Amino acid sequence: MRNAEPFTFTLGGVHPPGRKALTESLALEAMPLQSRYVVSMSQHFGAPALPLVKKGDAVREGRRIGGVDKFLGAEVHSPVTGTVVSVGRAPHPILGPVPAVVIERDPEASEAAVTPQEWECLPSCDILARIRDAGVVGMGGAGFPTNVKLCPPANLTIDTCILNGVECESYLTADHRLMLERPADIVQGLRILLQTLGAGRAFIGIENNKPDAVAALRAAVDEAGEGSRVTVAALDVKYPQGSEKQLIEALTGRRVPAGGLPAHVGCVVQNVATAHAVYEAVALGRSCYERVVTVSGRGVARQANLVCRVGVTLADLAAHLGGVREEAVKCVLGGPMMGFAVAGLDYPVTKTTSGVLFLTAEESPEFEHGPCIRCGRCLDACPMGLMPNEMSIYAERRKYDGMPRFGLWECFECGSCSYVCPAKRPLVQFIRAGKARLKSGAGK
Ligand code: SF4
Ligand code: SF4
Repeated sequence: MRNAEPFTFTLGGVHPPGRKALTESLALEAMPLQSRYVVSMSQHFGAPALPLVKKGDAVREGRRIGGVDKFLGAEVHSPVTGTVVSVGRAPHPILGPVPAVVIERDPEASEAAVTPQEWECLPSCDILARIRDAGVVGMGGAGFPTNVKLCPPANLTIDTCILNGVECESYLTADHRLMLERPADIVQGLRILLQTLGAGRAFIGIENNKPDAVAALRAAVDEAGEGSRVTVAALDVKYPQGSEKQLIEALTGRRVPAGGLPAHVGCVVQNVATAHAVYEAVALGRSCYERVVTVSGRGVARQANLVCRVGVTLADLAAHLGGVREEAVKCVLGGPMMGFAVAGLDYPVTKTTSGVLFLTAEESPEFEHGPCIRCGRCLDACPMGLMPNEMSIYAERRKYDGMPRFGLWECFECGSCSYVCPAKRPLVQFIRAGKARLKSGAGK
């Protein structure tokens, strides 16, 4: 581990208000089972799963209802026991309407039993099969299939596994509560990851605004007898430290090269919630159809950290928490920096839904944006050393093919540039528009 101060990444970064006090002290709360679940087939990075059921089929909790026939994809499982009432479409914040299976829950059905399973003697390939069959994906928001991420190119050696407990987005406390309430499960998940990767050491990176989580994970690491190979590191607070490249640098001092993968510097990064899902999949035989969702913002009657099955809708969440207040002007899936504003409440919770924010005008003010005044603040804030000001000017002129030379494809849309811009320019939206145009071939 690096000893140099400050104990964070070096290039750029910003300090948005945390606004975590609304939920950080709220213990995990089970979302009551609903009568109807809308299960999206696009809960991950990669091709959507193919529905394996049809209207009228009976399904059991944990049964596979979506399969994959491509390298990049993830299986989807029923969150409840019940009957398929339709196979249709559900809204997705980026992809638009995507395939979905709607299930009506059988109120008489008992919940699926969990059976502990031996894993310590298993070879990597068998552990990977359990993770794949359980449909585990990156729960931090990216949704990358975890079994794929655990198979880096054969010519690269992984010596370090990193668990990401940073949760640097404002409002979100789902990972924080999981670390406080399930630290032993997370550490077991990390042990499984280490065995699968054959890596010799691990870090759990947590920002130092969560000292209770740091203490809980340190105690769990000691309890598991893993103190010699696992370091729980308390990092300085800076956004976007939860991004892979920045976290790797903060913890190891290694810099992932432009266009490279964490594996190019010997690292694999997984979110703490993903480690928890890996534990459930491999050690308990439980598929991935539940996660913690922070529901926050002043625009909802009550805030909470809800343990939700996938397929509950935003309307279900709001109703359970007393409803959306009149003052709410915006609903955001994810955090305010990297999340997506959605127009309605019919979006289903998926494996990647870390937060649902109901924001008031005071929390999410709207600004008219002006021309770039060449102040350079966005350049100073960018953790990738890119030139968002130039990209925005090209996008405004619809000269999208001029954007890549200023770093378009290196941008991971963290929003730091937009956050500091005194002209309130929507830099990330310009960048997203440029990527979309060029990908569709319509940008020239
Ligand atoms: S959104 Fe992109 S350009 Fe803007 S600061 Fe983040 S990485 Fe840099
Ligand atoms: S921060 Fe805004 S005004 Fe300043 S250089 Fe960047 S885009 Fe231009």
